[in-house]
Amino acid sequence: MTIEDALRACESVNRQGLAVSLDALGESVTTEEQVHAAAEVYHRLLDAISTRGHHVNVSIKLTQIGVEFDPALAERVLDEIVVHAARVDSFVRVDMEGSALTEITLAMVERIHSLPGMRGRVGTVLQAYLYRTEADAERLLAQGIRIRLCKGAYKEGPEVAFPRKEDVDANYVKLAKRMVSSPVFCGMATHDEWIIGAIRRFVAEQGIAKSAFEFQMLYGIRRDVQRRLAAEGFGVRVYIPFGPEWYPYFMRRLAERPANVLFLARNLLH
Ligand code: FAD
Repeated sequence: MTIEDALRACESVNRQGLAVSLDALGESVTTEEQVHAAAEVYHRLLDAISTRGHHVNVSIKLTQIGVEFDPALAERVLDEIVVHAARVDSFVRVDMEGSALTEITLAMVERIHSLPGMRGRVGTVLQAYLYRTEADAERLLAQGIRIRLCKGAYKEGPEVAFPRKEDVDANYVKLAKRMVSSPVFCGMATHDEWIIGAIRRFVAEQGIAKSAFEFQMLYGIRRDVQRRLAAEGFGVRVYIPFGPEWYPYFMRRLAERPANVLFLARNLLH
């Protein structure tokens, strides 16, 4: 729930040889006060990170800092957070939300990344379920912007996204191969063992260094795979969300794996 809780979780994950990205939960805010409150949490988080020496960066959502009602305000606030992250030698990952926000997210990250001293301090996320992602990947790689590749967690229509899971998975593997072969350090965010296997085989065949990219997974999900990959010498980063605004995030995690609803119900009864 609190920064202290998050840092404790971060410390225990770091002790297992895994890096962390901390996400102060929150999204779709509607007032300037909420934007400043969210920014304040990130500034406190970056200050706390800088004094503890943990292996950690931060993830943020643009709807948490007002992009839906005041994009200029969101950009100012993001810029200040990235400047702070650069000062404490950290990095800000801008999470990707619904497809209505893809273009504005990319444009904002590109503008901030191009400012003096900001290179390598901000990156974003691309979703393998979107048709546009292949072109977006080329666009970001050409500018040296770090990408986290994920399948995508929002409900999207067939006009913008592959409706079939097989197509999303195939696109993921194709994009992952492109990213791990590039000189830009990218994050492969997935728990899908078939995809992880395909990436491992590809980097072994191509002689790509394990340090050229990292795997990323959610806190508490497939811990066995996280530990196994780290033991094999791959970089692994664990995404730890925290804070009182957990409801929409939690609902997306339930929606993408309905078995979790049963799991939760069984444990509540137990
Ligand atoms: P799936 O095919 O969904 O799952 C493969 C296997 O992983 C499952 O069989 C199961 O064993 C395990 N698993 C997956 N999800 C769960 C779960 N919820 N509970 C329990 N087990 C599970 N999406 C965005 O749209 N924007 C983002 O910015 C974003 N950031 C992310 C950051 C990280 C580090 C990660 C790991 C994911 C992120 N996602 C984001 C979510 C992502 O898009 C997928 O929705 C999510 O990761 C599930 O896809 P998968 O690749 O794990 O494959």
